[in-house]
Amino acid sequence: MTTKFDLAGKVALVTGASQGLGTRFAKTLADAGAAVGLAARQADKIADLKTEIDQAGGSAVSVRMDVTDAASVADAITAVEAGLGPIDVLVNNAGIAITKPFLEMEEADYDQVLDTNLKGCFLVGQAVARRMTERGEGGSIINITSILSTEVMGQLSTYCASKGGLTQLTRGMALELARAKIRVNAIAPGYIETPINSEFFQGPTGQALVKSIPQRRLGQEPDLDGALLLLASDASAYMTGSTITVDGGFVLR
Ligand code: NAD
Repeated sequence: MTTKFDLAGKVALVTGASQGLGTRFAKTLADAGAAVGLAARQADKIADLKTEIDQAGGSAVSVRMDVTDAASVADAITAVEAGLGPIDVLVNNAGIAITKPFLEMEEADYDQVLDTNLKGCFLVGQAVARRMTERGEGGSIINITSILSTEVMGQLSTYCASKGGLTQLTRGMALELARAKIRVNAIAPGYIETPINSEFFQGPTGQALVKSIPQRRLGQEPDLDGALLLLASDASAYMTGSTITVDGGFVLR
């Protein structure tokens, strides 16, 4: 790894680290030298990941955090900073989707999706940015949006709305936080195979979708490593308010 992407001495926090992309992001940041705060609603679910990172020579703490709950967010950030030091890099990864036709979507569904995907990034982003501002050394905030922040797909109206909002939250944060040397960028993944969706992608609907991707394959978790390390490290020192799309060309169709 070139020194530009080196994260030695940095502290990163990853939300929703208990599975899928969050777990991959945490491992990738640890491999690049960062000490990593692993946040999840059930701390026991990240115990094995902490052990894995520690045994590989890295450093991690696991904390309980529900991103929809401001008190839980504050407690978790305090615990990460007590264990590892001030946070330099935040990956706002926690997210959910509720798949339902628009006419059947309930108010509670809307609240759950928007509270997790948009308000959650606001709460964690603001709490971390306040600490970064007080410390005066800046940092990098990476919001995980989606190609569905600009595209739409049936039965995912609330998800698309939340991710579209997150793209604009990213830009608004970037504008206001630039003076404090805090960079705020987004990664918009396309279809990335994770344990929760691999069964769907093996079925007929999933296979048809894969055929519509210009690169004719699903993204795999390592496909996001480059964008993550770019945005987390000083290699992207002059980037803020940007979204990096990682989708095998899907949005070009
Ligand atoms: P996933 O369901 O495997 O993981 C989501 C994580 O968020 C889980 O660990 C879950 O426990 C956590 N989470 C949910 N609600 C939470 C809350 N209130 N507080 C704290 N944690 C909470 O999904 P994934 O595929 O790994 O997705 C991760 C992120 O990437 C999400 O924001 C998702 O929208 C985005 N994304 C994924 C894909 C993909 O193809 N996998 C594509 C585009 C965007």
